[in-house]
Amino acid sequence: TAPERTARTYAPAPVAFDVERVRRDFPALHQRVRNRPLVYLDNAATTQKPQGVIDALEHYYRFDNANVHRGVHTLSERATAAYEGAREKVRAFLNARSTKEIVFTRGTTEAINLVAASWGRANLRAGDEVLITEMEHHSNIVPWQMLCEQTGATLKVAPITDEGELILERFDALLSERTRLVGVVHCSNALGTINPIERIIERAHAAGAVVLLDGAQSVAHLAVDVQKLGCDFFAFSGHKLYGPTGIGVLYGREKHLAAMPPYQGGGEMIKFVSFDRTVYNDLPYRFEAGTPHISGAIGLGAAIDYVKGLGLESIAAYEHELLGYATEALTAVSGLRLIGTAREKASILSFALERIHPHDVGSILDHEGVAIRAGHHCAMPVMQHYCVPATARASLAMYNTRADIDALVRAIHRVKEVFR
Ligand code: PLP
Repeated sequence: TAPERTARTYAPAPVAFDVERVRRDFPALHQRVRNRPLVYLDNAATTQKPQGVIDALEHYYRFDNANVHRGVHTLSERATAAYEGAREKVRAFLNARSTKEIVFTRGTTEAINLVAASWGRANLRAGDEVLITEMEHHSNIVPWQMLCEQTGATLKVAPITDEGELILERFDALLSERTRLVGVVHCSNALGTINPIERIIERAHAAGAVVLLDGAQSVAHLAVDVQKLGCDFFAFSGHKLYGPTGIGVLYGREKHLAAMPPYQGGGEMIKFVSFDRTVYNDLPYRFEAGTPHISGAIGLGAAIDYVKGLGLESIAAYEHELLGYATEALTAVSGLRLIGTAREKASILSFALERIHPHDVGSILDHEGVAIRAGHHCAMPVMQHYCVPATARASLAMYNTRADIDALVRAIHRVKEVFR
């Protein structure tokens, strides 16, 4: 049932994208690891941070550190302005209608758990269904399993082809009036597949379901416009977008967020508390209980400024060309099997080397200064599909170069020599 495959063409790297200049902005890239120049190819796990993000964090802690929304003093006003300024940057970045639709979370995982716990418990009953895909990250599987256990709803899973593409006819067949929510990864972290989310959203909406997109891997590689997409929820993590760890975003359409009960209780999320009656705060604060990750949000704002300065279109075009180069280079290595060969892919090369365990591949590459990830990538069902315990995964970012790919290929040959 694999869809007809067409040859891929790669546009030449746009001259406008000055990768050497970009690299200069990332101090961590300029170090030696095991006495070799670092080649960082683990960007799907987390990205390195540009100096602008590091500076924003330092500035905040040196000058503006205070709690937000509470103080009458100058530092608190500055911290609040910077924190809310970051929210506006996220709003503009996703093209959400309002900052009421932007909730800061710890990351993608917490954003999805928020929807499952709050929207899910309020809306799901026994007999209802949640539809996800076989290529989801655990963070877009387990919260729905937990919710289904609690509510008696059923989790349905749309399968993928051996190329790593969603089988759309099977997805369509699983959609019904019982489907209340469709949760889909925008770009798979284990396979690199970019899902046809416009079509998925259209079909899901036609069936009356709301759609949550896991944007953890897409935001750094593709321009996202939540209004144009029409998704109901969109989740991402700052640390995969050149920002700090511990900060992420849930975009939710105002009509959904406004109808949802709070996720956690505490300070910030209330307007009034007494032992008889508590009045919850307005959006988005109702979903941000407790002191937020203020510096994280500010750092994320700086990361968005950085990415916007380069332009996601140019980043995507540059990375697309590099992915083509890397795909050809890895395909030429005998005994190497690429896992995930979808026609629409972003920045991820999962692979297996004949008779060599991915962890051994990862360790030897590290000795060569090349950082990749080896493991199940928190997508065990994907590993089960391919009958492998794990894969080796090189994941690219906008600061990677053809020289990085050449170093990867040289190091893979070294692995093969060691295991000959
Ligand atoms: N979804 C996908 C596709 C991911 O790649 C990841 C992280 O690897 C996550 C969700 C979870 O992100 P986080 O651990 O930042 O919450």
